Amino acid sequence: MHADVFGRPLRNLRLSVTDRCNLRCEYCMPEDEYNWLPREDVLHFEEISALVDVFLAEGVDRLRLTGGEPLLRRDLPELVRMLAAKAGLNDLALTTNGVLLAEHADALAASGLRRITVSLDTLRPARFKALTRVDELTRVHEGMAAAKRVFGRAFKIDTVVIRGVNDDELVDLIEYGRAMHAEVRFIEYMDVGGATKWSPNHVVSRAEILTRLAGRYGTVTPIVESTSAPADRFALPDGTTFGIISSTTAPFCSGCDRSRLTADGMWYLCLYAARGIDLRAPLRRGASPAEIASIIAAGWGARRDRGAEDRLALGDRRAFVPVTSLKKDPHLEMHTRGG
Ligand code: SAM
Repeated sequence: MHADVFGRPLRNLRLSVTDRCNLRCEYCMPEDEYNWLPREDVLHFEEISALVDVFLAEGVDRLRLTGGEPLLRRDLPELVRMLAAKAGLNDLALTTNGVLLAEHADALAASGLRRITVSLDTLRPARFKALTRVDELTRVHEGMAAAKRVFGRAFKIDTVVIRGVNDDELVDLIEYGRAMHAEVRFIEYMDVGGATKWSPNHVVSRAEILTRLAGRYGTVTPIVESTSAPADRFALPDGTTFGIISSTTAPFCSGCDRSRLTADGMWYLCLYAARGIDLRAPLRRGASPAEIASIIAAGWGARRDRGAEDRLALGDRRAFVPVTSLKKDPHLEMHTRGG
């Protein structure tokens, strides 16, 4: 097991399978135009599989497919099938916006996908359209129904909470999650690359979320568990559980064992990292698994990123990456890096 400079293990890998998305969420992809990764740079399934083999040998045991919108990647269940068959894999999950999920849920589960997270920030159709700039809430609800039917309890709902946008829906979303038998996780609005409209005033902190839910439901009890999962979990008096991912006001860098591989094979050791490690170039020039393993080991061994804590330490905090830089390097975008 590799440990980084601060002793954090290499364990969770998020695989972005495409930088494309079918939504244009204001907090993630607010621009009208984007520079996409060149098609020829995007890794084929065999290449992803070969890199995953090396990561598994180096200590990774949990994979999450993401994007962009992963269900836009053609034949995704085939990649799931290739990955699910690998020895040493303890978890295989997917994060999706749900628009295309109803048509793919059965095939994904049949291919070996074990868990699913569907992102949903609002239950109100007009608000959904304003926030995502696409009128697809009905299809997301169909996707949610499919997730409930196919994945049962292995189904979570992620909600980014933004002041003045959807922070009046915390209770509605908890109730919706309860009806779907899915745990809701509230994510603090983050100043990641792409979130060019971010400002501290729009962040609803974990503390405020807890206060508001306690005001409605009564005592909220923390669930004590020792995992590296980003969400802190809580229980309402009736036993309903929910999570909060407090990357902005209470980051969890000290336990972060996550890294990200973009669709074109750049490996990022932190969501906020300025640079990644190119794994596509060595792979395509025919490097052996041992050579790639040594690049991964050296990269992880030198890892000292604590991106969210560094951001928190800044006094005057505003959007992280200016639009001009995002245009020059799409790898700085959250939707490229894999949220
Ligand atoms: N398209 C898929 C989806 O919607 O779940 C996967 C990729 S998306 C980038 C992954 C997650 O990142 C989503 O839950 C999204 O809401 C979240 N996200 C994007 N921008 C964010 C931001 N600025 N702050 C917090 N979460 C963000």
